Formats: sequence, C-alpha cells, structure tokens
Amino acid sequence: MVFSSIGEAGHEQVSYFTDPETGLQAIIAVHDTTLGRSLGGTRILDYGSEREALEDVLRLSRAMTYKAAAADLPLGGGKAVVLGDPAEIKTEALFEAYGRAVDCMGGRYITSVDVNSGVADMDVVARETDHVVGTSDGLEDPSPITAHGVFRGIRACAEHVYGTDSLDGRDVVIQGLGKVGRSLAEQLLEHGASVTVSDIDADHVEAFAREHDVETVAPDAVYERPCDVFAPCAIGGVVNDETIPLLECDVVAGGANNVLAERRHANALRERGILYAPDYVLNGGGLITVAKEYLGGTREEAREEASAIGDRLLEMIERAADREVAVLEAADAYAEERIADAEGESSAVPRP
Ligand code: NAD
Repeated sequence: MVFSSIGEAGHEQVSYFTDPETGLQAIIAVHDTTLGRSLGGTRILDYGSEREALEDVLRLSRAMTYKAAAADLPLGGGKAVVLGDPAEIKTEALFEAYGRAVDCMGGRYITSVDVNSGVADMDVVARETDHVVGTSDGLEDPSPITAHGVFRGIRACAEHVYGTDSLDGRDVVIQGLGKVGRSLAEQLLEHGASVTVSDIDADHVEAFAREHDVETVAPDAVYERPCDVFAPCAIGGVVNDETIPLLECDVVAGGANNVLAERRHANALRERGILYAPDYVLNGGGLITVAKEYLGGTREEAREEASAIGDRLLEMIERAADREVAVLEAADAYAEERIADAEGESSAVPRP
C-alpha cells in the first residue's frame, strides 16, 4: 500500500525516522530532484493516523516540485512532517535528532519552517545539518517579498483583463491582514488602488485602518463584496462550492496557499468568467527568498526574482486563453515542461 501511494504521484523517496529518546517520529518525502535538491518546510501536526501524515507529506512535497519549477528555481520538491502535538513534543533534543535525520539525507532534502515550526526551531536543526534555511542567520522574513510577487501577479492579471497593468483606482479586497496581507495592502495603496481589508482578528483590522486609508468588511461578508480583485491572504480552501456563486470580482489572486478547496474549482471560476491566478505561482516569492538563502544571494536579488512572477504569470494566462483552459492547467504544464526539458538535458548527470 505504501509503495503504491508513493509511486502514484511519482515520488522518488520517502524516509521514516524515529528517535526513541526524544520521541521523534518524522517522514521526509522527496518528490522530484530533476531540477535540483528538494526544498520544503517541516510541518508539525498531531495527525489522526500515520496514514494521514503520509498522505499529507506526499501531497505537500509534490506541490513543492511545482512551486519551485514555476518559480524558475534550480530546486526540486520535498517536505517533512513531524508527528505529534507541537505543544508536547517540541524540545531542543527533538529538533537536534530531527536535524540529524535531515543531515543523513545528504542534501537531497533541504528543510525550513512551516506550520508549527519556526526560526528558533530551525536554529536548533542547524546545529546538526547545513541543509536548513529559515534560520536567524538567514535572509529574514520572506513575507514582504512574497507580497511583492503577489502584487506583480495582480498587475499581470489586470493587464490581461483590463488591458492595462495600472492598479490606479482598482478595487481590491484582501482577506487576511497578516504578514503577507499587510504588505500587499501597502503596495497596492502606494499604486493608487482602493483597498478593502478583512480579518477574523478585529485588532489587526483596527490597527491597520487607523494608519491607512482603507475600507473594512466583516469576515463573513468578504466574498460577496463587489470588487475588481479578490486577494485571499489568510487560509486555504476559501474558494469552494459555497463561495464561488457569491463572488463579484473579475480576478481571484492572493498569497494564501491552497486557495481552491479542490482543483475543479479553477474551472468553476473560469466558467463564471473569473480569472484565477494559481496561488503557487503568485506566492513563489517566499520560496525564492529561502532558495536564495541556501544557494547564496541577497534579499534584493530575491526581490528582483520575485518581480519576474508578473511576466511569467502573464505568459501562463495567455497560454491558457489560447488553449481555452484554466490558468492552473497552463501553470502545471509550464512546471512539467521545465522538468521534462531538464530531464532531457541531464539524463547522464547523476541527481543530487
Ligand atoms: P499570518 O499568520 O501572518 O496571517 C494570516 C492572517 O489571516 C492573520 O491575521 C489571521 O488572523 C487571518 N485569518 C485567518 N483566518 C482567517 C479567515 N478565515 N478570514 C480572514 N482572516 C483570517 O500568515 P502569512 O504569513 O501572512 O501567510 C498568509 C498566507 O500566505 C498563508 O496561507 C501562508 O501559507 C501563505 N504564504 C505565506 C508566505 C510568507 O512568506 N509568509 C509564503 C507563501 C505562502
């Protein structure tokens, strides 16, 4: 059963690690290293079962392959999950043991932060391995660069839909005023957009609205708020069977991961005449930043590379329009072509 799950989505390697002394139970999945070493964060969750943990790490590592390929990075896709309640299991000893696990992958997998693992944890992992990014010695919080890529992506969508990439006077609704949402809102305001913000944390909204000229909307009214662009920057699954009929926008383009509840919702949006910019293309600035940290480079260079997200997305949008398919399909095809081209070029070169 395990071999068939791994084989179905084309994973190269799935490794299980245990350390009885610290209670570590981790799975590292390497999906594809055609373009380079695999990179992806460490998710710590109290999974309902080992099967659930395996499914999660397989799905997440595959998604990283597409994200890295679509960002034009020389990296493949990987991910790790550590099983257990983060409130109970997170100790320095556990992260040291986990660092040794990452190290024995020999650089085929590079780890970083994810749900329930942060910078301080990666600092401990770094005691045991060089194959870690997102430490306090790194390029700092990638969120403003992520937001910059999203901003460039929104401009590309405007170019396609309105014939101009100017956002002057465009109405943008942002769901989620966290690190990405706040920075995106500021960039949009600087470029003359009219911004409406929403967050389940009323303090975030109040603090932001005190300092910026924005409108606000209640979290449960965000979908039906008429606008040009709806930018989900909070959680996944927000575009679904219930919310799609409510949307009154031309474009859905935001920074959140897994915006669509299911893949078929990309077509549902298209049928409603709404342009959906795939989240993994738009929010690639975060991965671009941590990749720069590992491969060597500056924050400024990462920002430059994130700027290219706009042109790349526009190319995908145009290809999708020509083929009469959702942009998600064109984005997947772009990533798959990059991998196929690299496979052709380097079939004689051993993988990392
Ligand atoms: P964050 O935790 O700083 O902010 C999330 C915000 O969303 C919080 O203010 C929270 O109160 C709000 N929120 C949560 N549920 C909500 C809901 N149902 N409705 C409205 N608001 C809600 O997170 P972040 O770093 O800004 O990331 C936002 C999204 O972008 C996440 O999906 C994350 O996975 C994705 N992402 C972030 C980066 C990055 O560099 N930070 C990179 C790639 C993708």
